[in-house]
Amino acid sequence: MLVVDPRLPSAPKAVVSEALQTASKWIETWYRKRVRFRIDRTESVDSYLAEPLRKLPVLNEWRRFSYSLDGTDTVMRFLSQQSDVLRALPIDALRSYVPASIRSRITTPEQAALNLLLIYDEKYRLWKSLRTPAGMPFFDTALPMKHSYWHWERVFETVWPDSVTDHLIVTNVMLLDDALSDAPPHSLLRGGLLNGFSEEECPQAIVSTFPIFTDFPAISDLRDSGEFTKKDRLLALSHIIAHEFGAHVVEGLRDVYDHEACLAVPTSGLAYQTTIRRLFQGKPCRRGHPKINRAVNLANRYENLARRYLEIKEYGKAKAAVERAIAIDPKRPLVKLMLRQIEKKLK
Ligand SMILES: [Zn+2]
Repeated sequence: MLVVDPRLPSAPKAVVSEALQTASKWIETWYRKRVRFRIDRTESVDSYLAEPLRKLPVLNEWRRFSYSLDGTDTVMRFLSQQSDVLRALPIDALRSYVPASIRSRITTPEQAALNLLLIYDEKYRLWKSLRTPAGMPFFDTALPMKHSYWHWERVFETVWPDSVTDHLIVTNVMLLDDALSDAPPHSLLRGGLLNGFSEEECPQAIVSTFPIFTDFPAISDLRDSGEFTKKDRLLALSHIIAHEFGAHVVEGLRDVYDHEACLAVPTSGLAYQTTIRRLFQGKPCRRGHPKINRAVNLANRYENLARRYLEIKEYGKAKAAVERAIAIDPKRPLVKLMLRQIEKKLK
């Protein structure tokens, strides 16, 4: 489905349709699975986000996990968590992945985290200042939530995993990664500007056309050639869809950074053309890939659903969600505790 901000320009629907077709071909080539996409409906972003959060609000105690996009927060709050994220990556692979200008500063996970967070902050401020030729800001200060990756996830999580119908959302909204406690390096390097992301356990993915179809020097600079033709944009969008939906949703793979001809490699910065060239260098990657743990994600998701229902005192639904979490992953002492708590309320 398409979720649009009607205040802002959108990529032509015909281009989106063509990209969907190309992506399904690539998914078949890389993963030997057939996926057919169909645009079933279009909805306005404001209502798409507001309604689910009204019914099932976000817990206040969760908010500290995301960088607040209202201008009151500091990225330094996430320094130690970011260092932990980067410690998990081979430092050489990381160094080869970042722009040459900061390569020498990537010496330790802590230094890498500091430098990446500073880049994030500088770029993020820039994204917030962009306006359409008619003067309309791309960043909606009246509803910063619509740009927040963290909030989109919380909206997706209001739906029971087996009732998800919007498996792929294409939007013209500028999406920013504000989950800075575990944001990946490729996301920090572009000031959080997201091409898309996925919730593999559902499965569900969202792709933003904003970075591909919006032209500002600050955005073009992150791309990798002066000229970015219609064809380039189409291929870039196809790749984002194939990466999110093919590698993550269909195959359940984690991002990798050092494979060749691999759909599991995310776009570096907004270097779409380099990424596409690399994708078609050689035969489709058949190396082993680290997988996302779907069962854990799914159990987490039911657990979070249960917490939210508990908060609004819908104990029947809270109980059902807890029981599903336990069925998937019986070794969750806190969830069992929650179940006893709910059963007391239900008596
Ligand atoms: Zn690979």
